[in-house]
Amino acid sequence: MSQFLRIGAFILVAAVVVACGAPSQPAITPVAAITIIPVVATPAATSTPAPTATAFVTAPAPGQAAIVPILLYHHLQDLGSGASELQKTWTVAPQNFDAQMNLIAQRGFHTITMGQLVAHLKDGKSLPAKPIIVSFDDGWEEQYAVAFPILKKYHLIGTFFVYTHPLDHAPYMTWAQLQEMSAAGMDIQPHTLTHPHLRALTPNEAMKEIAESKSILETRLGRPMIAFAYPFGEYDAAIIDMLKRAGFQAAVTLDPGYRQRADELFTLHRIRTSYNDSLDDFTKRLPQ
Ligand SMILES: [Zn+2]
Repeated sequence: MSQFLRIGAFILVAAVVVACGAPSQPAITPVAAITIIPVVATPAATSTPAPTATAFVTAPAPGQAAIVPILLYHHLQDLGSGASELQKTWTVAPQNFDAQMNLIAQRGFHTITMGQLVAHLKDGKSLPAKPIIVSFDDGWEEQYAVAFPILKKYHLIGTFFVYTHPLDHAPYMTWAQLQEMSAAGMDIQPHTLTHPHLRALTPNEAMKEIAESKSILETRLGRPMIAFAYPFGEYDAAIIDMLKRAGFQAAVTLDPGYRQRADELFTLHRIRTSYNDSLDDFTKRLPQ
Protein backbone atom coordinates (compact mmCIF):
# COMPACT_ATOMS: atom_id res chain seq x y z
CA MET A 1 0.00 0.00 0.00
CA SER A 2 2.80 2.40 0.84
CA GLN A 3 3.89 2.25 -2.78
CA PHE A 4 0.58 3.55 -3.92
CA LEU A 5 0.64 6.22 -1.26
CA ARG A 6 4.07 7.22 -2.44
CA ILE A 7 2.91 7.37 -6.03
CA GLY A 8 -0.15 9.32 -4.96
CA ALA A 9 2.07 11.76 -3.11
CA PHE A 10 4.29 12.05 -6.15
CA ILE A 11 1.36 12.88 -8.38
CA LEU A 12 0.21 15.52 -5.92
CA VAL A 13 3.68 17.04 -5.82
CA ALA A 14 3.92 16.90 -9.59
CA ALA A 15 0.56 18.61 -9.91
CA VAL A 16 1.65 21.35 -7.51
CA VAL A 17 4.91 21.85 -9.38
CA VAL A 18 3.07 22.11 -12.67
CA ALA A 19 0.63 24.59 -11.17
CA CYS A 20 3.46 26.63 -9.71
CA GLY A 21 5.40 26.48 -12.89
CA ALA A 22 2.57 28.03 -14.87
CA PRO A 23 1.64 31.18 -12.98
CA SER A 24 1.15 33.16 -16.16
CA GLN A 25 -1.79 31.03 -17.24
CA PRO A 26 -4.71 33.44 -17.22
CA ALA A 27 -7.19 30.62 -17.40
CA ILE A 28 -7.09 30.11 -13.65
CA THR A 29 -9.87 32.17 -12.16
CA PRO A 30 -9.20 32.36 -8.42
CA VAL A 31 -6.09 34.43 -9.16
CA ALA A 32 -6.71 36.99 -6.47
CA ALA A 33 -6.32 34.46 -3.73
CA ILE A 34 -3.29 32.94 -5.33
CA THR A 35 -1.45 36.22 -5.79
CA ILE A 36 -1.90 37.15 -2.16
CA ILE A 37 -0.44 33.88 -0.99
CA PRO A 38 3.28 33.95 -1.82
CA VAL A 39 3.14 30.73 -3.74
CA VAL A 40 5.52 31.86 -6.45
CA ALA A 41 7.90 33.35 -3.95
CA THR A 42 8.53 30.05 -2.26
CA PRO A 43 12.16 29.26 -2.98
CA ALA A 44 11.29 25.59 -3.05
CA ALA A 45 9.61 26.05 -6.42
CA THR A 46 13.01 26.07 -8.06
CA SER A 47 11.59 25.66 -11.53
CA THR A 48 12.37 21.95 -11.57
CA PRO A 49 9.58 21.22 -14.02
CA ALA A 50 9.44 17.65 -12.77
CA PRO A 51 10.41 15.76 -15.91
CA THR A 52 8.64 12.48 -15.27
CA ALA A 53 5.81 12.46 -17.73
CA THR A 54 3.76 9.79 -15.95
CA ALA A 55 4.03 7.81 -12.78
CA PHE A 56 2.34 4.87 -14.46
CA VAL A 57 3.05 2.48 -17.29
CA THR A 58 0.22 2.07 -19.74
CA ALA A 59 -0.43 -1.28 -21.39
CA PRO A 60 1.70 -2.21 -24.38
CA ALA A 61 0.24 -1.96 -27.88
CA PRO A 62 -0.94 -5.27 -29.34
CA GLY A 63 2.04 -7.46 -30.14
CA GLN A 64 4.39 -5.31 -28.08
CA ALA A 65 6.15 -6.48 -24.94
CA ALA A 66 5.81 -4.98 -21.48
CA ILE A 67 9.10 -4.41 -19.71
CA VAL A 68 8.54 -6.23 -16.42
CA PRO A 69 11.49 -8.10 -14.93
CA ILE A 70 10.48 -11.07 -12.78
CA LEU A 71 13.39 -11.85 -10.47
CA LEU A 72 13.82 -15.48 -9.42
CA TYR A 73 15.14 -16.73 -6.08
CA HIS A 74 15.29 -20.11 -4.37
CA HIS A 75 17.68 -20.45 -1.42
CA LEU A 76 18.89 -17.51 0.68
CA GLN A 77 21.83 -18.60 2.80
CA ASP A 78 25.59 -18.47 3.17
CA LEU A 79 27.35 -21.40 1.55
CA GLY A 80 30.55 -23.05 2.74
CA SER A 81 33.59 -23.38 0.54
CA GLY A 82 32.60 -26.92 -0.38
CA ALA A 83 29.33 -25.86 -1.99
CA SER A 84 28.56 -27.42 -5.35
CA GLU A 85 27.95 -25.49 -8.54
CA LEU A 86 24.35 -26.62 -8.38
CA GLN A 87 23.94 -25.14 -4.90
CA LYS A 88 25.56 -21.89 -6.01
CA THR A 89 23.24 -21.69 -9.00
CA TRP A 90 20.13 -21.72 -6.83
CA THR A 91 21.36 -19.76 -3.80
CA VAL A 92 21.94 -16.10 -2.98
CA ALA A 93 23.68 -14.99 0.23
CA PRO A 94 21.37 -13.03 2.56
CA GLN A 95 23.54 -9.89 2.50
CA ASN A 96 23.60 -9.96 -1.31
CA PHE A 97 19.83 -10.35 -1.42
CA ASP A 98 19.55 -7.34 0.89
CA ALA A 99 21.81 -5.30 -1.42
CA GLN A 100 19.76 -6.33 -4.47
CA MET A 101 16.47 -5.34 -2.84
CA ASN A 102 18.02 -2.06 -1.68
CA LEU A 103 19.12 -1.39 -5.24
CA ILE A 104 15.72 -1.94 -6.81
CA ALA A 105 14.10 0.24 -4.14
CA GLN A 106 16.70 2.99 -4.64
CA ARG A 107 16.27 2.90 -8.40
CA GLY A 108 12.56 3.46 -8.13
CA PHE A 109 11.31 0.02 -9.12
CA HIS A 110 7.84 -0.82 -7.83
CA THR A 111 7.06 -4.42 -6.98
CA ILE A 112 3.76 -5.67 -8.36
CA THR A 113 1.80 -8.91 -8.02
CA MET A 114 1.16 -11.54 -10.67
CA GLY A 115 -2.44 -10.37 -10.72
CA GLN A 116 -1.34 -6.85 -11.64
CA LEU A 117 0.86 -8.16 -14.44
CA VAL A 118 -1.99 -10.25 -15.85
CA ALA A 119 -4.40 -7.29 -15.64
CA HIS A 120 -1.81 -5.18 -17.47
CA LEU A 121 -1.18 -7.64 -20.29
CA LYS A 122 -4.74 -8.94 -20.66
CA ASP A 123 -6.93 -5.99 -19.78
CA GLY A 124 -4.68 -3.01 -20.40
CA LYS A 125 -4.59 -1.92 -16.75
CA SER A 126 -1.80 0.52 -15.90
CA LEU A 127 1.14 -0.42 -13.70
CA PRO A 128 3.25 1.72 -11.39
CA ALA A 129 6.37 3.14 -12.97
CA LYS A 130 9.29 0.70 -13.31
CA PRO A 131 7.29 -2.41 -12.40
CA ILE A 132 9.14 -5.48 -11.16
CA ILE A 133 8.19 -8.84 -9.61
CA VAL A 134 10.40 -10.46 -6.98
CA SER A 135 9.60 -14.17 -7.11
CA PHE A 136 10.64 -17.13 -4.98
CA ASP A 137 10.14 -20.80 -5.78
CA ASP A 138 9.42 -23.86 -3.63
CA GLY A 139 8.61 -22.39 -0.18
CA TRP A 140 11.94 -22.86 1.58
CA GLU A 141 11.88 -21.74 5.20
CA GLU A 142 14.57 -19.11 4.67
CA GLN A 143 12.27 -17.32 2.24
CA TYR A 144 10.18 -16.55 5.31
CA ALA A 145 13.06 -16.10 7.77
CA VAL A 146 15.43 -14.15 5.50
CA ALA A 147 13.59 -12.71 2.51
CA PHE A 148 10.32 -11.64 4.12
CA PRO A 149 11.93 -9.23 6.68
CA ILE A 150 14.14 -7.72 3.97
CA LEU A 151 11.18 -7.22 1.65
CA LYS A 152 9.28 -5.49 4.44
CA LYS A 153 12.30 -3.31 5.25
CA TYR A 154 12.27 -1.92 1.70
CA HIS A 155 8.45 -1.91 1.38
CA LEU A 156 8.54 -4.48 -1.41
CA ILE A 157 6.07 -7.22 -2.32
CA GLY A 158 7.36 -10.74 -2.91
CA THR A 159 5.65 -13.41 -5.01
CA PHE A 160 6.08 -16.90 -3.54
CA PHE A 161 5.39 -19.98 -5.69
CA VAL A 162 5.08 -22.85 -3.21
CA TYR A 163 4.39 -26.53 -3.59
CA THR A 164 2.05 -27.61 -0.92
CA HIS A 165 2.94 -31.11 0.28
CA PRO A 166 6.13 -30.27 2.21
CA LEU A 167 4.68 -27.24 3.99
CA ASP A 168 4.92 -27.67 7.77
CA HIS A 169 7.98 -29.90 7.29
CA ALA A 170 11.54 -28.54 7.58
CA PRO A 171 13.30 -27.15 5.62
CA TYR A 172 10.09 -25.71 4.18
CA MET A 173 8.00 -22.98 5.72
CA THR A 174 4.90 -23.67 7.74
CA TRP A 175 1.33 -22.92 6.76
CA ALA A 176 1.26 -20.35 9.56
CA GLN A 177 4.27 -18.57 8.08
CA LEU A 178 2.70 -18.64 4.63
CA GLN A 179 -0.55 -17.27 6.00
CA GLU A 180 1.35 -14.54 7.84
CA MET A 181 3.10 -13.50 4.63
CA SER A 182 -0.16 -13.56 2.70
CA ALA A 183 -1.85 -11.41 5.33
CA ALA A 184 1.09 -8.97 5.12
CA GLY A 185 0.42 -8.44 1.41
CA MET A 186 2.82 -10.95 -0.09
CA ASP A 187 1.65 -12.67 -3.26
CA ILE A 188 1.40 -16.47 -2.88
CA GLN A 189 0.87 -18.70 -5.95
CA PRO A 190 0.99 -22.48 -6.65
CA HIS A 191 3.91 -24.61 -7.80
CA THR A 192 2.16 -28.07 -7.72
CA LEU A 193 1.67 -30.47 -4.84
CA THR A 194 4.92 -32.47 -4.95
CA HIS A 195 7.19 -30.72 -7.49
CA PRO A 196 7.12 -33.50 -10.10
CA HIS A 197 8.34 -33.54 -13.68
CA LEU A 198 4.86 -32.73 -14.99
CA ARG A 199 5.43 -34.00 -18.53
CA ALA A 200 6.41 -37.45 -17.17
CA LEU A 201 3.05 -37.88 -15.44
CA THR A 202 -0.19 -39.18 -16.88
CA PRO A 203 -2.61 -36.39 -17.81
CA ASN A 204 -4.75 -37.20 -14.78
CA GLU A 205 -1.79 -37.09 -12.41
CA ALA A 206 -0.52 -33.84 -13.91
CA MET A 207 -3.96 -32.25 -13.71
CA LYS A 208 -4.24 -33.27 -10.07
CA GLU A 209 -0.87 -31.62 -9.27
CA ILE A 210 -1.99 -28.44 -11.02
CA ALA A 211 -5.61 -28.13 -9.93
CA GLU A 212 -5.30 -29.40 -6.36
CA SER A 213 -2.37 -27.16 -5.47
CA LYS A 214 -4.50 -24.26 -6.66
CA SER A 215 -7.58 -25.24 -4.66
CA ILE A 216 -5.62 -26.08 -1.49
CA LEU A 217 -3.93 -22.67 -1.48
CA GLU A 218 -7.19 -20.90 -2.28
CA THR A 219 -8.93 -22.65 0.60
CA ARG A 220 -6.18 -22.06 3.15
CA LEU A 221 -5.27 -18.51 2.13
CA GLY A 222 -8.74 -17.36 1.13
CA ARG A 223 -7.74 -15.69 -2.13
CA PRO A 224 -7.79 -16.73 -5.78
CA MET A 225 -4.67 -18.26 -7.31
CA ILE A 226 -4.05 -17.09 -10.86
CA ALA A 227 -0.40 -17.81 -11.71
CA PHE A 228 1.67 -20.98 -11.75
CA ALA A 229 5.41 -21.76 -11.73
CA TYR A 230 6.51 -24.85 -13.70
CA PRO A 231 8.61 -27.27 -11.62
CA PHE A 232 12.09 -27.43 -13.18
CA GLY A 233 10.84 -24.86 -15.69
CA GLU A 234 9.37 -27.71 -17.75
CA TYR A 235 6.26 -27.14 -19.85
CA ASP A 236 4.65 -28.00 -23.17
CA ALA A 237 1.39 -27.28 -24.95
CA ALA A 238 -0.47 -30.03 -23.08
CA ILE A 239 0.61 -28.66 -19.68
CA ILE A 240 -0.35 -25.12 -20.69
CA ASP A 241 -3.75 -26.40 -21.75
CA MET A 242 -4.22 -28.04 -18.35
CA LEU A 243 -3.32 -24.79 -16.60
CA LYS A 244 -5.94 -22.94 -18.61
CA ARG A 245 -8.56 -25.59 -17.85
CA ALA A 246 -7.69 -25.37 -14.14
CA GLY A 247 -8.38 -21.63 -14.27
CA PHE A 248 -4.87 -20.21 -14.32
CA GLN A 249 -4.24 -16.99 -16.23
CA ALA A 250 -0.44 -17.01 -16.37
CA ALA A 251 2.67 -19.07 -15.67
CA VAL A 252 6.33 -18.31 -15.12
CA THR A 253 9.25 -20.26 -16.61
CA LEU A 254 13.00 -20.32 -16.12
CA ASP A 255 13.45 -18.78 -19.58
CA PRO A 256 15.55 -15.61 -19.22
CA GLY A 257 14.48 -12.08 -20.09
CA TYR A 258 12.21 -9.28 -18.93
CA ARG A 259 10.02 -8.65 -21.99
CA GLN A 260 6.57 -10.05 -21.22
CA ARG A 261 3.89 -10.33 -23.87
CA ALA A 262 0.14 -10.82 -23.73
CA ASP A 263 0.42 -13.78 -26.12
CA GLU A 264 3.05 -15.36 -23.86
CA LEU A 265 1.18 -15.21 -20.57
CA PHE A 266 1.92 -18.90 -19.93
CA THR A 267 5.61 -18.60 -20.77
CA LEU A 268 6.62 -15.51 -18.81
CA HIS A 269 10.35 -14.92 -18.48
CA ARG A 270 12.36 -14.63 -15.30
CA ILE A 271 15.80 -13.37 -14.26
CA ARG A 272 17.84 -15.66 -12.04
CA THR A 273 20.56 -14.46 -9.71
CA SER A 274 23.19 -16.87 -8.40
CA TYR A 275 25.64 -17.03 -5.54
CA ASN A 276 28.68 -15.60 -7.30
CA ASP A 277 26.88 -12.79 -9.11
CA SER A 278 28.06 -9.32 -8.14
CA LEU A 279 25.70 -6.40 -7.63
CA ASP A 280 26.96 -5.16 -10.97
CA ASP A 281 25.97 -8.46 -12.65
CA PHE A 282 22.55 -8.12 -11.05
CA THR A 283 22.15 -4.52 -12.21
CA LYS A 284 23.08 -5.31 -15.80
CA ARG A 285 20.22 -7.81 -16.09
CA LEU A 286 17.64 -5.17 -15.24
CA PRO A 287 16.12 -2.78 -17.77
CA GLN A 288 18.26 0.37 -17.69
ZN1 LIG B 1 10.67 -25.41 -7.92
